This record gives sequence, structure tokens and C-alpha cells, in this order.
Amino acid sequence: MKYHEMGEKDVEKALNTNFQCGLQEEEVKNRRKQFGWNELDEGEKQSALLLFFSQFKDFMVLVLLAATLISGLLGEYIDAIAIIAIVLINGFLGFFQERKAEKSLHALKELSAPQVYVLRDRGWLKITSKEVVVGDVIKFSSGDRIGADVRIIESNNLEIEESALTGESLPVSKKVDIVAGENVSLGDLENMAFMGTMVTRGNGIGVVTSIGMKTAMGQIAHMLQNAQVMVTPLQRRLEQLGKILITFALLLTALVVAIGVIQGHDLYTMFLAGVSLAVAAIPEGLPAIVTVALSLGVQRMIRMNAIVRKLPAVETLGCASVICSDKTGTMTQNKMTVTHIWSSGQTWNVTGTGYHPGGEFYQRDHKVLPGNSKELQQLLTFGALCNHAELKQKENDYIIDGDPTEGALLVAAMKAGLKRENLLKQFTVEKEFPFDSSRKMMSMIIKDQHGKRFVITKGAPDVIVGVSESILWTGRLQHLGGESREKVNDAVEGLAMQALRTIAIAFKPIDSKTIILHESEAEKNLTFIGLQGMIDPPRPEVKAAVKECRDAGIKTVMITGDHAITAEAIARQLGIIKGNAKVLEGKVLNEMTVEELEEEVEQVSVFARVSPEHKLKIVKALQNRGHIVAMTGDGVNDAPAIKTADIGVSMGITGTDVAKEASALVLLDDNFATIKAAIKEGRNIYENIRKFIRYLLASNVGEILVMLFAMILALPLPLVPIQILWVNLVTDGLPAMALGLDKPEEDVMKRKPRHHKEGVFARGLGWKVVSRGFLIGVSTLMAFVTIYHRNPDQLAYAQTIAFATLVLAQLIHVFDCRSEKSVFARNPFGNWYLVGAVISSLLLMLIVIYTPALQPIFHTVPIIMRDWLLIIGMSAIPTFLLAGSFYLRKKT
Ligand code: ATP
Repeated sequence: MKYHEMGEKDVEKALNTNFQCGLQEEEVKNRRKQFGWNELDEGEKQSALLLFFSQFKDFMVLVLLAATLISGLLGEYIDAIAIIAIVLINGFLGFFQERKAEKSLHALKELSAPQVYVLRDRGWLKITSKEVVVGDVIKFSSGDRIGADVRIIESNNLEIEESALTGESLPVSKKVDIVAGENVSLGDLENMAFMGTMVTRGNGIGVVTSIGMKTAMGQIAHMLQNAQVMVTPLQRRLEQLGKILITFALLLTALVVAIGVIQGHDLYTMFLAGVSLAVAAIPEGLPAIVTVALSLGVQRMIRMNAIVRKLPAVETLGCASVICSDKTGTMTQNKMTVTHIWSSGQTWNVTGTGYHPGGEFYQRDHKVLPGNSKELQQLLTFGALCNHAELKQKENDYIIDGDPTEGALLVAAMKAGLKRENLLKQFTVEKEFPFDSSRKMMSMIIKDQHGKRFVITKGAPDVIVGVSESILWTGRLQHLGGESREKVNDAVEGLAMQALRTIAIAFKPIDSKTIILHESEAEKNLTFIGLQGMIDPPRPEVKAAVKECRDAGIKTVMITGDHAITAEAIARQLGIIKGNAKVLEGKVLNEMTVEELEEEVEQVSVFARVSPEHKLKIVKALQNRGHIVAMTGDGVNDAPAIKTADIGVSMGITGTDVAKEASALVLLDDNFATIKAAIKEGRNIYENIRKFIRYLLASNVGEILVMLFAMILALPLPLVPIQILWVNLVTDGLPAMALGLDKPEEDVMKRKPRHHKEGVFARGLGWKVVSRGFLIGVSTLMAFVTIYHRNPDQLAYAQTIAFATLVLAQLIHVFDCRSEKSVFARNPFGNWYLVGAVISSLLLMLIVIYTPALQPIFHTVPIIMRDWLLIIGMSAIPTFLLAGSFYLRKKT
């Protein structure tokens, strides 16, 4: 018999588990030993060796290897060996860079692995779905992805979307009842849920029947799409730019070779010089360094609690001009405490902080016993009954497992001595209609000891008032309308003005025969009982983050399901709105088209009582106004808005799998301030990429120009081919990498957001590349010419001087690249990676010049002390000349 044909007891026996306690850890270990981890086989991984060899398939490297072969055939063995050595060093560098990028991407995948709630040793734990074994009891709710194949043993309006398996895009409703027949198709197995499918509604509990490759998903695992490697817009632009640069470089190289040959240089030297120059001029290392800079940036973001799921987001983050953020949990702490209770025109204040269940009840500064008031007693009891949360003690603290709003209601009831566990001895829960943020309420059907049944509903007060027809006023049933409705509204507003989140509670008796299948039947004709108001303090760091965003030209918009007045009060505390501000409510949004919203959206900083569906409209209106929008969300219904936003942000703690999968950025701590930190890092990563693009390209321009000018002026070659290769492949690489690790400039969050269509050479970068490159070329040539004219017989010495000047000029220029302003704008020792890289590049240069064994290979001659003055002077010119001109321009 298959699991779907068995009753629950038989399933429990067959899987040798216990639905009440779950599996014991010991048993879990045994089962894992026997059946392995719950994971799908991944496709073939590229081996290290293959990755290493892939470093040599680059076109220019192949040209270089061909040149080596020719050198070898012509008997120039030293040249040949030297070139091969350089290509190998370059290959290793590339290999390690890619390895690092790959590793960090893998770590990222591990971090965003889906998690599962599992019952083990009588307690519910959150574990990664990989750790689940057959026989585990797991629970899931709307927005979760099912972690293994399970037989359902409890279903509360559970609906699951199984399109990944069956192709059917409409969610299927799931039940506990036996499904007869052995060969039932997947789509008809209503009491089973399958790995990889998504809960769209309700909640449920199931017992794991198969894991890993044994699951229905595992059987078709080959159909799973592989994770795509995503290319960022900048990487794409660089790819295009690379093609243009190659053409340019080849043309210039051809020109140098042609002029050289015409001027009478020998063919072999010019050929090798041409190849070396072409290799030098083409920034083939650029894409690899960009990837490394991006992936290192992504790692830094992880340390700040932000996980980037889609690489392009790293760049888009720097362009963000609006952040639309949820309030509860993201801007506030999501640590709710009931402080005010209202019923029948009376208000009670409740003392105590956090979830500690100790506190007292006061009325107009007088302590009262909660047991003395029937209304209060009933309100607290119903709040604790229509509830899903659990209060747990952890060390000396109390924590809530479940929705904090419900947690607050549990704690308030406990302060009056009403424990949910005890209440559940008197009342049984027959059915639940779970909370969803579109309805803004939840209901339970409850039966008491005497068999009396009733519906308890709790939710947003305006919604509850809308579905109530009567009110319990000091124990008497009254029609809810006119005066009483006004009193309720006044009470709600009074609580909201104190920034309290309000929950209303209502109920209705039902007879023993009434069967309620749908929430719409339960949630009507109710009797309103009262309100509970809870504080949810703002997160302390959010106010500063909002201000920092404003300085950076980024607007913060609060989007919340909470009451307009509560939302406005909190927005004011956080500095999101100042003076007269417009709060737009969901019901107004309903009536507006996207175009109408576009007209107003710039003036609105708070959207209240909105449903997740409204978020899409808001994103679209902002995008139509030219904004780059970051939008947060956590539930299933938030997914479309998260997907449409330029940067979809989901919550690591409270977020559902659906929201996480739709998002580009996951906040591990659910904190608004983390979005700001990620934006700052995003801006920094982009600026760092600009820094090394500038450094590498200016270096290349310098290398080409020094050769070109020498040929035009009928001079000998100022650099021998092997020196050009050395400079380009060895000296340039490390400092460029170090620039990728630079810290942000002080004013990075004082600038306006970058335009998302900005080109690679925007904001003066092109000019900087050409002007610095030109000056590096000219000063290298000047150093060469000075020495060459002093002693034309010692060409190798003059070439060594040119080599040293070129290297030094680049190593000085690298400090200039750290700032948009000038080399003096930043402390040169602010980036120790760079200092280290520059020192090692300097040492490498000195080794090449002063090691006798290397001198014949690199055609170098030891430089005498006095000439270093010339080298240092010449190499400083490009950077300091332009730094000087920057200050002159600033003064005038
Ligand atoms: P956001 O996270 O978007 O800032 P929110 O969490 O306040 O807002 P919702 O969760 O949609 O938004 O809640 C909207 C309203 O529904 C709340 O103001 C509250 O009155 C009510 N509500 C929230 N949680 C529950 C719950 N578990 N049961 C009943 N009503 C709830």
C-alpha cells in the first residue's frame, strides 16, 4: 500500500515515527546514515584542472603562445621560456581569481538554502531542508516551499501550487483524507505534498515520505533548470567595449610595427614587440577582475547581513532612488507588547515590557484585577485562543515562535493569568482560517466544554467593524452603528495616534450543525468586543539610515498594512515625513489607475492599510516617473512587486520562500538599515570597478603611446617585448585587484544616485584614461630619451630606465585612481591591500632589474642611484601635474 492510501495511524506506523513528538535526534542520525541527505544531485562541476586550462583559451594568450613557438623556432629560447613563464603566472592569477569568485557564489547558495520547520524530540526547530529525513514531521504555511515529499496529516485551508511538477498553474487544495487507488496521478494526490512545490494559502503539517532523488522532483531532476550565471549590465558593456578596444589596439599595434619596420628595425623584434603590445593593450584581465570585485563585494554585503541573490543587483543598488519599505519588522523591531486595551468605552493600561509575561492592569492610574472585568477577561481569552503563536523561554529571555502580533496577545492574556495551554483544556479548535494581509483578519471556530460553538475573529479594527453588526457594550448586545461605531472609531484613532498597532476582536455563536467551509461565511455578522493596542518600537538605527538615504538623494517610502494614523506617527518618529505630509490609504489606491498615482506618487511618503497587491501599482508608478525602486516584501502576494521592482528585497527571518526567490536581495536581519548599507556598498563596488578600469586602461594607453611615439620619432624601441609583457601581466594585476577592495570615499552617500544608463566612461572617466595615459607615455619616453641621448651605446640601460619609469608612473597613478577628485583627496595609506600590492610590484620590478640571473631574460641593466632621481621625477609628473591642475581649476 502506498502512503496516500493509508490512514494517518498506518502512515505513522509504516514510517516508524510519532506525530506528537517527532523523531529523536539519535534516530535522525541513523536514518541519515542509511538514506543520506535530502538533496538533489547537482550537475557536473567544472574540475580545477579544467578551470586552469580554460585560462589559456583566451585569443590573446593563444597569439602569445604562437609567438613563443616562433621565438623557439628562431632559436630565441630565452624569450620563449620567459613568455611561457609570464603566461603561466597570468594563468595562475586568473585561476585563483575565478576560484575565489566561484567559492563565494557557492557560499552564497548555501546561505540562501531553503529552511524547514521540523518536529524533533517534542519541539519545533528550523533546519535547512537538506537535514530532513524520512519520518520527520514538518509544518508549512503560505509562502513556503515544501522541502521533501510528505503525506499531509493536518490541513488548514491548505493550497499548494504544483506547476513545477504537474504543469498545472492553479493551486490545488490539500486534505488529510485517504486517496484510494494505487496509480493515482501526481495532480490528484490531494493528501500528499511534493518537494519544490509552493504553499499559496493556509497551513498544514505533513510527515516526510521520501527525500532527495527519491522524491517526485528528484525523478525529474534532470529537468530542473541549472542556476544561470548572471551578467551585470556593466559586464555586458565591458564586453562590448572590449571588442572596440581590441580593434583599436590591433590597429595601433599594426601602426607601430609598420612604422618600426619602415624605420629599419629588424622584423623579428618588431613582430614580438607587436604581439606583446597587442597583448598589453587589450585589457583581457578586466572582466575577471570585475567578477572578482563583484563577488568580493557580495561577500562584504553578507557580512552586513545582505545576501545578493542576483548579481546585477549589486550595480542596480547604486542607482536606487527610492526605497519602498514595509514598516513592521523592517523599520520597527517587530517586538510587540500590548499596552492598551479598550472595550465598552473603558480603557486599561497594561504594564510590562517585551514578551515577559509579568505585568499589571491599570485604569486611570488605579491598579485593577483583570478577573473583575468580564469584558477584559473575554477580550484577553479570545485573543489568546484565536492565535497561532507560542511563547518560549530561552535562557533568561522570552521569545515568540510565530507571529509577534499574536505573541503580544498571548502575553497580555498571561498577565491576567490566562494561559493558552490551560484555555485549550476548556476549548477545542475545530477549524482555522489563517491570517492573510489582504483580508487583514483571521478566524477560528471554537467549541467549549458544554459543546457551544462560536467563531472568533481578530484583525484590523476597520475591517472587523466592517464585518460586525453588533457590539457587546458592558455585557449587553447593541447594534453597531451611529454612536457606538463612532466611539469605536475614536478609540482606534486614539490608540493609533500613540503609534500603537491595533487589533480588534469579535465573535459570533454558531449552532452545533452549522458547517462553515469558507472564511467569508465565518467572517460576517459578528459581534465586536474590543481592541488591544500594542507598541512596536522603531529600530534604533533606522532614523539615521533614513537621513543618510535622504542625503544620498534616495527617498524612503513606508508601505504598511497598519492603520494610517499609526503609520504616520511612526513615520514622523523616523523622520520619513516632516511637516504636512500626505498619507495615501489602500482604499484610495484601489480607485486610482497607475497613471493617476503617477501624478501624486512623488508627494507621498507613507502608504497605509495597503494590501500586497497595491505594491505593484506603487512600483510601476514610481518606475514610470523614472525612479529606480527598491521594494521590500515577505509574503506570497508580495512576490509580483518584488519581481517588478528594480531591486526586490525580501526578509531573511520572516520572509517566505516565494518572496526570497523573487528577490534580488535578502536581508538576513530584516532591517531597513541593512538596505541602506547594501546601497552604500553597491555604490562603492561600482566606484571601485571604475577605479581599476581607469587604472588598467590608462596604463595600457601609456604603454602603447610610448612605443608609438618612439617609432614616429625614429627612436629605438624604448621597451623590449618581454618588459611590456611583464608590466602588463604582472605589475598591473595586483594593484588593480587592490583597488577593487578599496573603501568608499567619504562622500559616497552624499552624491545623487548614479543614472542607470550611465556608460563606462561617464563622469570624466574617458578623459582621465586618455590624459593620464598620454602623460604616462610621454614621461616614460622623456626618461628614455634623456638617458639614450646621454649614452646612445647603452640602449639596454635606457630601456631599463624606461621600464622603471613606466612601472613607477603606474604605481603612483594607482593612488590617484582612488578618488574622483585628486591624489591628495585621500590618505594614501587608507587601503593596505593597495600599499601591499604596490610594494610587491615595486619589489618585483627591482628583482627584475637587479638580479643578475634575470637580467639577460628581461634585457635589464642595474640602474645607478643618481638616475633613480630622474625616474622618480618623471614618473611623478603625470599624477601630480593633473592633481595640481585640479586644485587650480577649483580655485578659479
Ligand atoms: P507591514 O509589515 O507591511 O508594515 P503590517 O505587518 O502591519 O505591515 P499586515 O501584516 O498586513 O501589515 O497587517 C495589517 C493589519 O492586520 C494590522 O494592522 C493588524 O491590525 C492586522 N493584523 C496583523 N496581524 C494579524 C494577525 N496575526 N491576526 C489578525 N490581525 C492581524
